[in-house]
Amino acid sequence: MTISFSERIVNWYQLHGRKHLPWQQQKTPYRVWISEIMLQQTQVATVIPYYQAFMQSYPDIIDLANAPEDEVLHHWTGLGYYARARNLHKTAKIVRDDYAGIFPTDINQVIALPGIGRSTAGAILSLALGQPHPILDGNVKRVLARHQAIDGWPGQSKVEQALWQLTEELTPSQDVSAYNQAMMDMGANICSRSKPLCAQCPIAIDCQAQLSGRQTDYPGKKPKKVQPVKTTWMLIMTQGMEAHLVKRPPTGIWGGLWCFPEFSSEAQLQEYLVDNDLADAKQQPLDNFRHTFSHYHLDINALWVDISPKATIARQVMEVNQCLWYNIQQPDKVGMAAATERLLAALSAHLVKE
Ligand code: SF4
Repeated sequence: MTISFSERIVNWYQLHGRKHLPWQQQKTPYRVWISEIMLQQTQVATVIPYYQAFMQSYPDIIDLANAPEDEVLHHWTGLGYYARARNLHKTAKIVRDDYAGIFPTDINQVIALPGIGRSTAGAILSLALGQPHPILDGNVKRVLARHQAIDGWPGQSKVEQALWQLTEELTPSQDVSAYNQAMMDMGANICSRSKPLCAQCPIAIDCQAQLSGRQTDYPGKKPKKVQPVKTTWMLIMTQGMEAHLVKRPPTGIWGGLWCFPEFSSEAQLQEYLVDNDLADAKQQPLDNFRHTFSHYHLDINALWVDISPKATIARQVMEVNQCLWYNIQQPDKVGMAAATERLLAALSAHLVKE
């Protein structure tokens, strides 16, 4: 008797799949949703402590909806891709206000929430409630593209459509929670990007990529594009152990996070110092570094200016914008860009030395 694709996957899951992750206990749409969003672009081992701290602070969706955005972003510091945290917060407020605090269970209503695509909605409803929806995250795409030798980069819509059709056909109506979880685990642990463990794989026998020895040719790679390089100058003003941060506008890179004031050229930065009567304050450049976003590189130059002797005037000038004097020894709980954190660490090392 031939065992179907999904049966082989589910049998494998019963023996080898992960069943003890924090979000696999007391499963609810809320708990699964938070884990699915955190796991986008981030490894399980990294997510676990963040997830536990998040759940401790926000045990249910109303707690999350009622929290200040800054506090939610603070919980995200270090996880990157901050739009995820802002969308979580927006969605929590929508569920509080439009759904009486109960996470919707209709797939179309879930897809309509900010930051939740078709695959994430399918994962939430299948893993938490056993609803029979297919999923198609990066891991599942890789397993299916290899098993069926589907050519092309999944970012192209015709390739993605072919993969959606396949996942719809293969997803069973029974045991869907175990099946979807198994497909994600398989992609992460067995059918990994560079060294797939085909000898341990339950679907190796009819895997087209394995049979032709072309595992790493699938899925097709994104066409290479040279990433542009931009340059910025950041001004790190300190007074004693406090550093001046400004809040970024809600949209754009590092939206809503606390950063150092930015200038497009060194001349513009120096002009700012002159205008604010800070030109003769002690200056010291910090080591420059590159921060890479998904679509460009940003070369960051930083100038540290100790404004202690001029603090009264300077602080008055700066209060006009949303700003914060961040105490390095007693840090506020605010959401910070990774580049800000790195500069604060460098600054802290200098301040301790002095
Ligand atoms: S046989 Fe190898 S390439 Fe094919 S799905 Fe399994 S692990 Fe991936």
